[in-house]
Amino acid sequence: MNTQDSSGQMVSAAVLDGISDAVLLLDKDRVVLAANRAARELLGDQIEGRDLALSLRHPEALEVAKSAILDGVESTAEIVLQVPVQRIFAVRAVPLPVEGKSSLRILIALEEVTAARNAEQIRADFVANVSHELRSPLTSLVGFIETLRGPARDDEAAQDRFLDIMADESQRMARLIDDLLSLSRVEANEHVRPNDKLDIREILTAVLDSVSVQAEEKKVTMEFDGSVAVPPVSGDRDELVEVFQNLVVNAIKYGRENTPVRLTLSSVDRIPEVGGRGICVTVADQGEGIEAENIPRLTERFYRIDKGRSRSMGGTGLGLAIVKHIVNRHRGRLVVKSEVGKGSQFSVYLPVTEPAEA
Ligand code: ADP
Repeated sequence: MNTQDSSGQMVSAAVLDGISDAVLLLDKDRVVLAANRAARELLGDQIEGRDLALSLRHPEALEVAKSAILDGVESTAEIVLQVPVQRIFAVRAVPLPVEGKSSLRILIALEEVTAARNAEQIRADFVANVSHELRSPLTSLVGFIETLRGPARDDEAAQDRFLDIMADESQRMARLIDDLLSLSRVEANEHVRPNDKLDIREILTAVLDSVSVQAEEKKVTMEFDGSVAVPPVSGDRDELVEVFQNLVVNAIKYGRENTPVRLTLSSVDRIPEVGGRGICVTVADQGEGIEAENIPRLTERFYRIDKGRSRSMGGTGLGLAIVKHIVNRHRGRLVVKSEVGKGSQFSVYLPVTEPAEA
């Protein structure tokens, strides 16, 4: 595209094509005189020489162009294009300074803002979710306090029962706040890769010790297959303890009574998708398993397949979100495989320290 417009200005194709926003030049009849590469990719190769309405069938975008043409002032709007996937664009129409109405030129720029709008939505949803998660135990506490002051004032048996429930609800709030703090700490440091040299076997042994009471209560036997020698991993010990504690506790919670939870440690030549040498720890349970469509959503904050069940087992719905962020910070990978009725496997790949460091 090397267009000479009527005012004699050369529009440099190379410069415009280098811009990631879609940029178009229109005349007073809304005909596209020039379009950069991003515009052609977005609206089609046939865009030039035709009315913009033929390639951009969006009333608001056309309205923006019309206002700029008729009123001679800059006009903006935000539009959503649904096909082939939903994308959001900020559209700006700017009249270019020229003499005479017939040589009027309008510059249209479409800047994609999908990622920013999605991030805003996620933030808003997160605040709504946190408020909701805190509100329900709080409402229950307020209710029991009222009952203890009123109807149950002289009923000792009821008082004991209510105080037990109140203790559970307060612990739920405390767990939620701990998990939120943990998540925000990991997120804040996610760009800094931790590089302490760690013995993964020692970490897994410590995790297994810490969950032994919980496993016994659920009549789950813990099996650890870690006989192969593996190199040290580079990471943050506390964070990795948190990762494996979350995965093992989930396996105990969502596994079946009287079945084993198995931990396997191995070394791999290449971490899937990330690359580089690493180790792999798999936590496998023989629970009900997870349907394929739920797997990609497990690491979303507050995503639970069965909300009531998760809550009754003391879950916050944040555990796997924390796991994902910690694994990302370690430049590792979390891979989930599951078969309904048979059980699930959560594999964590972590990079090993380079031979020079090791
Ligand atoms: P929660 O606190 O609810 O356990 P997580 O973030 O740890 O939160 O897990 C999110 C959801 O993923 C759980 O509510 C559960 O539905 C599902 N899930 C996690 N681990 C397993 C597992 N081992 N087997 C089956 N479902 C699981």
